Amino acid sequence: MTQTEGPSTGPARNEIDGSGTGRARCVLAPNPSPMTLDGTNTWLVAEPGAATAIVVDPGPLDEGHLQRVRAVAEGADQRIGMIVLTHRHSDHSAGAARLADITSAPVRAVDPAHRLGSEGLAAGDVIVEGGCELRVVVTPGHSSDSVCLLLPADRAVLTGDTVLGRGTTVIGEDGSLRDYLDSLRRLRALADETGLETLLPGHGPLLADPAGTLDFYLAHREERLAEVRAAVAAGDRTPAQIVARVYADVDRVLWPFAEFSVRAQLDYLRALGEVPAESAADGGGS
Ligand SMILES: [Zn+2]
Repeated sequence: MTQTEGPSTGPARNEIDGSGTGRARCVLAPNPSPMTLDGTNTWLVAEPGAATAIVVDPGPLDEGHLQRVRAVAEGADQRIGMIVLTHRHSDHSAGAARLADITSAPVRAVDPAHRLGSEGLAAGDVIVEGGCELRVVVTPGHSSDSVCLLLPADRAVLTGDTVLGRGTTVIGEDGSLRDYLDSLRRLRALADETGLETLLPGHGPLLADPAGTLDFYLAHREERLAEVRAAVAAGDRTPAQIVARVYADVDRVLWPFAEFSVRAQLDYLRALGEVPAESAADGGGS
């Protein structure tokens, strides 16, 4: 699961499918929804001419999609040598075991429950496969196990759901706003340090202004926090009340997911001592 607060309009499927950089190519999964935008972006990463490719986020368990991922690699005379997950959410991970089955590739993931093979993923790991190097940047927040993958050769980062191609990410049930803000700041610093040119997100179109996008994400979080502070000051007590006020301009279909974000914001403000414990303690089910 991911989620967006952004507008529902966006580029057509065929503008996303097949897009990418010199070494990363998007194979768009056929699972569009309010929660997944146009669908999950599966990324094939390889040096042109290499014998193998890395798959980042196989996407949902959809046989046609997984076969297409393999076929796109084979069309470039590459077999899939490794599968990497940006995080555990099923729209990114559910197809991993089946893709591993049909390609014999191992699956590397932060969460041991999602690994196939002996190798995990940890901060600073450097994945070398398909003639390419991917550097693991640990970015918890959207989920507790989220990572981004730096592709230095293309000055690009695969962001999973930490940054989306449109709208903004919701903090998942297994996420944390404090971690998320730290992760955004880490990526923002990386953008300057490495001269980043492109963000390759888990949903939506690729982004050509990494620093500007990350500045927007950080500012957006501050605005939402200010709105939640104001809602609490106005007497709202439950996440549902706060969502109805703060997310009034957002499609109601997304409100249940916005509640995850509001809970995360209340947890964050409570940790700062800005919200009394009882304000955030209950409120479920209302
Ligand atoms: Zn997700």
